[in-house]
Amino acid sequence: MKDVTIIGGGVIGCAIARELTRYRLDVLLVESEVEVGFGTSKSNSGIIHGGHHTEPGTLKGELAWAGNQRWVRLAQELGFGFRRNGDLTVAFDESDVEVLERIALQGRERDIPGVEIWGPERIRLEEPNLNQDIIAAVDGPTAGVVNPYEACFALIECAVANGLELRVNAPVTAIEQGADGLLVHAGGDEIPTRFVINAAGVHAEKVARMVGLLEPSIRGRKGEEYLLDKRLAGIVQRTIFPCPTPNSKGILVIPTFDGTIMVGPTAQAVEDLDDVTTTAVGAASTFDLARRLVPGISERDCIAEFAGVRAVAADNDFVIGPTSVAGFFNAAGIQSPGLTAAPAIAELLVTMLGDAGLDLSPRPEFRRTMPRPVHAASISIGELTELAERDRDFARVVCRCELVTEAEIHDAIRRGARTLDGLKFRTRAGMGRCQGGFCTPRCMQLLAADADGGMSDITKRGDGSWLVLDRGDLRGEEVPA
Ligand SMILES: Cc1cc2nc3c(=O)[nH]c(=O)nc-3n(C[C@H](O)[C@H](O)[C@H](O)COP(=O)(O)OP(=O)(O)OC[C@H]3O[C@@H](n4cnc5c(N)ncnc54)[C@H](O)[C@@H]3O)c2cc1C
Repeated sequence: MKDVTIIGGGVIGCAIARELTRYRLDVLLVESEVEVGFGTSKSNSGIIHGGHHTEPGTLKGELAWAGNQRWVRLAQELGFGFRRNGDLTVAFDESDVEVLERIALQGRERDIPGVEIWGPERIRLEEPNLNQDIIAAVDGPTAGVVNPYEACFALIECAVANGLELRVNAPVTAIEQGADGLLVHAGGDEIPTRFVINAAGVHAEKVARMVGLLEPSIRGRKGEEYLLDKRLAGIVQRTIFPCPTPNSKGILVIPTFDGTIMVGPTAQAVEDLDDVTTTAVGAASTFDLARRLVPGISERDCIAEFAGVRAVAADNDFVIGPTSVAGFFNAAGIQSPGLTAAPAIAELLVTMLGDAGLDLSPRPEFRRTMPRPVHAASISIGELTELAERDRDFARVVCRCELVTEAEIHDAIRRGARTLDGLKFRTRAGMGRCQGGFCTPRCMQLLAADADGGMSDITKRGDGSWLVLDRGDLRGEEVPA
């Protein structure tokens, strides 16, 4: 019998998994996708919010600031990309300034260091490419940016190194109540377990219904994001927020950890919780609003676009904790700033499990650090040459746009990449200007060789996303000679 089964390998499930492996427990994480982090956790803005934006009196507000403070250490221990670049929330008129004063006060009331209001001169000095009509801004120096997928991979690799059992391609289809726990049906297996944590993102309502719960009810709110060419790198240093409205944080200009600029996200209610399409309307409004903040931004610089769906619970707050079903816990309704709050959510849930009787005896051999993967693009040419002298794969460039070598691709596969997206998110191969036009065939060959398979076995992101078919696979069709 498992002590704890976590359903869902997004950033929340992965953070909980790592936190639980600090203790002498038998923990399983089941994920329906082929790799972890392939849900909303890979499709977000990557901002570690400064903690001053979220409203007081909410779990979101409390856990965002608590989570923010844990990211520096996590990034150091696990070797993923994180930078505290700060944010600016800007005002175009006096009514905006009133909102900024409230935001700054929220920051001061939470004892968040450095939150202050700047006037036009300081703004021009620090961020000269912002719209010259901006009259004031709140500076939030505690905000940062992270590579969200790298964070998921690093958390799960660390958890697995500490004894977590990970099952991917294992959707949970039913949960039964047994005499001494719960029986989870996942990927064709029946798994007896004492505690279940529902971290299934937008599908958390569906999972809760498997044990007969009518709550939480989860609605989807889609956000589209647009990634711009590196030509614009450095146009702003900080993440730029417009003055928020009661319903939305608005369209942001985000310098990602990797140095590209991203604009978004939109906020649109969707019925289909898996709707990750981008739209012409979304793009047009995103670029109009982003240009109002930073006039030098143009849609002609867009190199990629994606969308993610926020899991919004009925009262718009996180739903975390035990339920009326013994042993069944929720980590649900984790919309923004869920990425920021993830480490704090994990700690909170572990405390709650302890309160419910889970024995939290520490495991002295818990390994908190993981080796930082080498990225050729972020080391000096001298260091790269030295590496290449020892391992010729460092001399073979696979992705020219992002300078990714064959050695990095092999390392990513060794660390768990099974798909082209898995490689891309671990190494950046395919993320540059040509969007994989050059490196995709070689990445596929390397994945296929590792799996002793053919090119037609390789998918972009799991079943249904094959890139090539064997001629013999063209079902029912006459194959031309
Ligand atoms: C556009 C956008 C921008 C955002 N920007 C930010 C930001 O800048 N900063 C921030 O802090 N937050 C941000 N967020 C919010 C943040 O992305 C989420 O709060 C966070 O990713 C939620 O993680 P999760 O693990 O709950 O969900 P997910 O990442 O969706 O993980 C849930 C997992 O459960 C799996 N699953 C579902 N059903 C089952 C089943 N039956 N069996 C097994 N597995 C199952 C799914 O496959 C998925 O992998 C943003 C969100 C969006 C949409």
